[in-house]
Amino acid sequence: MTMLDTPEALAFRQEVREFLATSLPDDLRRAARRATSVFQDPSVSLAWQKVLHARGWAAPDWPAEHGGPGWDDVQRYIYAEESARANAPTLAPMGLKMVAPVIMHYGTPAQKAELLPRILSGEDYWCQGYSEPGAGSDLASLKLRAVRNGDDYVLNGSKIWTTHAHFANKMFCLVRTSTDGRPQSGITFLLLDMDTPGITVTPIHTLAGDHEFNQVFFDDVRVPVAGRLGDENAGWTVAKHLLTFERGGRYAPALAAHLAAIREGAEATGWIEQDSNRERLAAAAIGIESLRAIELAGLAGRGPGAAVRPSMLKVLGTEIGQQLDTLALDIAAGWEGAFEDAPDALAVAMPRYLNNRASMIYAGSNEIQRDLIARVVVDQAAA
Ligand SMILES: Cc1cc2nc3c(=O)[nH]c(=O)nc-3n(C[C@H](O)[C@H](O)[C@H](O)COP(=O)(O)OP(=O)(O)OC[C@H]3O[C@@H](n4cnc5c(N)ncnc54)[C@H](O)[C@@H]3O)c2cc1C
Repeated sequence: MTMLDTPEALAFRQEVREFLATSLPDDLRRAARRATSVFQDPSVSLAWQKVLHARGWAAPDWPAEHGGPGWDDVQRYIYAEESARANAPTLAPMGLKMVAPVIMHYGTPAQKAELLPRILSGEDYWCQGYSEPGAGSDLASLKLRAVRNGDDYVLNGSKIWTTHAHFANKMFCLVRTSTDGRPQSGITFLLLDMDTPGITVTPIHTLAGDHEFNQVFFDDVRVPVAGRLGDENAGWTVAKHLLTFERGGRYAPALAAHLAAIREGAEATGWIEQDSNRERLAAAAIGIESLRAIELAGLAGRGPGAAVRPSMLKVLGTEIGQQLDTLALDIAAGWEGAFEDAPDALAVAMPRYLNNRASMIYAGSNEIQRDLIARVVVDQAAA
């Protein structure tokens, strides 16, 4: 018996499955199946978040004291599997998964009381202001200047690649408060309102034609010191804490659901009838099952060390994702009917392929993750 097969786990899976069968509206399910990006349109993600919030399930990872369901890791994994299997929309991660854990850890009582309930309900929509022109992988070289003036910081500079800044009413960002010492030691973590005077959001369109991210300009923007998370010049520590959550640890459930949708397309086009094609589907399924085994070993406290696991899962998860996107594209080439009638995975194969290339870059590029893994392996070998 595995930890997913205990009577409690099976009963929980049944409860989640029944909830999804009765509460997930068809229009949201269809929108999720036709999504071309991991970042769902807020009209879809927020509608689903409202339903989940009413049930107390909007934030599976949050502890009960802050309004989470108080689930353990096994329940969270089962919930992720069932949600993906039912084609539920994904929720925007910037608030629920990224800034919320650091507010819980570093926030003052006032910040926690004000901000966490609004993240849970979806009233506040967050964006992440880290990257700048010239500061991506080498994030510590960021330059957006914040100068203390009375009870405010005054910000000048710009952030780039800011996903959904055009929807967000809040931003968490890293700013430069000192140029003394190491670059990492002069960075501060700020929370701010996007309607503050002096902020301009300029769209950037992707190769897939989407408007998902932006460049955000700051021109003498006054942010109250009360919006600081952690101490001045201690923002790097807060940011490192957050990055662990950004990379996450549950890729296999969504990949398995994507493969199931691709398989429907392979059956509809007759693509599946060739042995060599079936072998490609089987290879993808084996890759996902292997990844799932690593994720479950992590839940049980086994497998590679905690320090390297998020990086390893990010590389494996995103690379299998690219493999699936290529598969979908190859199968879609054989569809001869109208676009509207195409199986969902085929209808969105091309924009999804283009959009998903970005998964190798955001949340720390895969080259950087490989570098982190290599360093841990070298350290372990030397120990
Ligand atoms: C779709 C998308 C959404 C994003 N959303 C946000 C957001 O909401 N907020 C935000 O702040 N940022 C966001 N980003 C930015 C993202 O974090 C950066 O693009 C990423 O950190 C890489 O930085 P860069 O683009 O400046 O590339 P660079 O750092 O210039 O890297 C260019 C290439 O060189 C490689 N490289 C760089 N350094 C090394 C090294 N030391 N060793 C080996 N290879 C290296 C990289 O892997 C990459 O292939 C988003 C990016 C994308 C694509």
